[in-house]
Amino acid sequence: MNTIKHWINGSATSGAATRTSPVFNPATGEEQARVLLAESSDVDAAVSAAATAFETWSESSLTQRTQVMFAFRQLLLKHEEELGRIISAEHGKTVDDARGEIARGREVVEFACGLGDILKGSFSDQVSRGVDVHDFRQPLGVVAGITPFNFPAMVPLWMHPIAIATGNTFVLKPSERDPSAANFVAELYREAGLPDGVFNVVHGDKTAVDAILTHPGIEAVSFVGSTPIAKYVHERATSAGKRAQALGGAKNHAVVLPDADLEFAANHITAGAYGSAGERCMALSVAVAVGDAADRLVPLLARKAGEVKVGPGDAWDTDMGPLVTKAAQERVENAVARAPGQGATVVIDGRGLKVEGHENGFFTGPSLLDHVTTEMDAYREELFGPVLAVVRVDTLDEAIALINANPYGNGTAVFTGSGEAARRFQRRVRVGMIGVNVPVPVPMSYYSFGGWKDSLIGDSPIHGAEGIRFYTRPKVVTSRWPESRQQVAAGFSFPTSH
Ligand code: NAD
Repeated sequence: MNTIKHWINGSATSGAATRTSPVFNPATGEEQARVLLAESSDVDAAVSAAATAFETWSESSLTQRTQVMFAFRQLLLKHEEELGRIISAEHGKTVDDARGEIARGREVVEFACGLGDILKGSFSDQVSRGVDVHDFRQPLGVVAGITPFNFPAMVPLWMHPIAIATGNTFVLKPSERDPSAANFVAELYREAGLPDGVFNVVHGDKTAVDAILTHPGIEAVSFVGSTPIAKYVHERATSAGKRAQALGGAKNHAVVLPDADLEFAANHITAGAYGSAGERCMALSVAVAVGDAADRLVPLLARKAGEVKVGPGDAWDTDMGPLVTKAAQERVENAVARAPGQGATVVIDGRGLKVEGHENGFFTGPSLLDHVTTEMDAYREELFGPVLAVVRVDTLDEAIALINANPYGNGTAVFTGSGEAARRFQRRVRVGMIGVNVPVPVPMSYYSFGGWKDSLIGDSPIHGAEGIRFYTRPKVVTSRWPESRQQVAAGFSFPTSH
């Protein structure tokens, strides 16, 4: 059986690890590989390689770094299908969906290719007589990323291209459930001409994460995953004196107003709820139907949920693949089983779905629950599966209040034909990423990605200008070059300009 190793200083290595974790093919339920779980000495080795590489990489020219990023971007494009298949085989999502995440991650590389422009500092001439001021930003050093299973390529790509382009060196700890994409990306970086040690991958579990959070050689930690772990990572990293950005879980609402094109809304909500089997942090898991929209919307949602084609991720006609693990399948099916006892109506029950030829796969079909209220488990829990809950309210303001009372604030969408309603919604809702007739409003790479409330711990969203800010620190230089023999009086009082 294949053993997935770490990638340290430009090559695959087993290091000190003796523990392993199974990697499944979710479509068949079979264990297809084992991944090494790092000990803290493996993290030490990666940090040491990254620290050595930092000495030269941080001194490389913007031209050299940009050229590596351009080459890396081309390789991601060339190998999109191959990487998509690697992701699909371990995560379960369709190959097309995996190619979509690679394309969205590649956009961050394209943003980083504009490094020369993005990193420009500013200059102020003659702030005082004979005195100028300029500023510039420098890399932090060795930085680390800890990432979730649901986007094994895109989420790390939110981090490392910007960190590396700005002159840092990187240690990635990807999810142990679908670890192969990270090693493939490491090989692409090497082919693109990135020096050894600039990008390293350490596979592992809590032991590796804890070693990263306390390692004195790591300057900053980027985390994306569930909220409890985001809180833990943020607290431990910052108390160890590191910069930390920590993105957490989500419960995303789509508000449907009576004036919306309901066929359009139902199509897009169905795709947003069941795409990637609901295992997206921007998945729509709650439809908030306003006024008389509900009675017309629910039959449309039911029909479309019934049309979703469930199957293995590598079949050309599959809309939705399996869940990532058996535990995830059981968690989702248990939540659907509890719903009627708490007062919800199960309109479509996806439990117990069997896919021919894949009877042991971790499949569950789309489920649709109606008359869900905010006290029910199906509303309160992040199910992270293909379950859409319909909540009924009377007004848009009631819908906004409901969303604002939810502890999460990652993404939301409104479906309406009214500009006034859309504007009121986007200004009042306490959520970081908002779609107007757009179900999954993932921002482009030159904007920043991040939610509010429990969906983002700390104050730093990811990529875009925020990414540059996070991975660099500013220096401001005040300089004077007196003309020869010109006397400048030295003052004992605090310097002011004149
Ligand atoms: P997770 O929190 O279980 O794991 C994330 C990372 O933390 C993994 O690398 C994992 O190995 C590590 N980890 C897990 N348990 C740990 C522990 N006890 N101590 C230290 N490290 C630990 O998340 P997941 O199940 O891989 O991913 C799904 C979650 O990620 C969902 O909650 C989803 O909403 C969230 N997510 C959020 C965003 C966002 O942008 N806000 C994006 C993608 C996923």
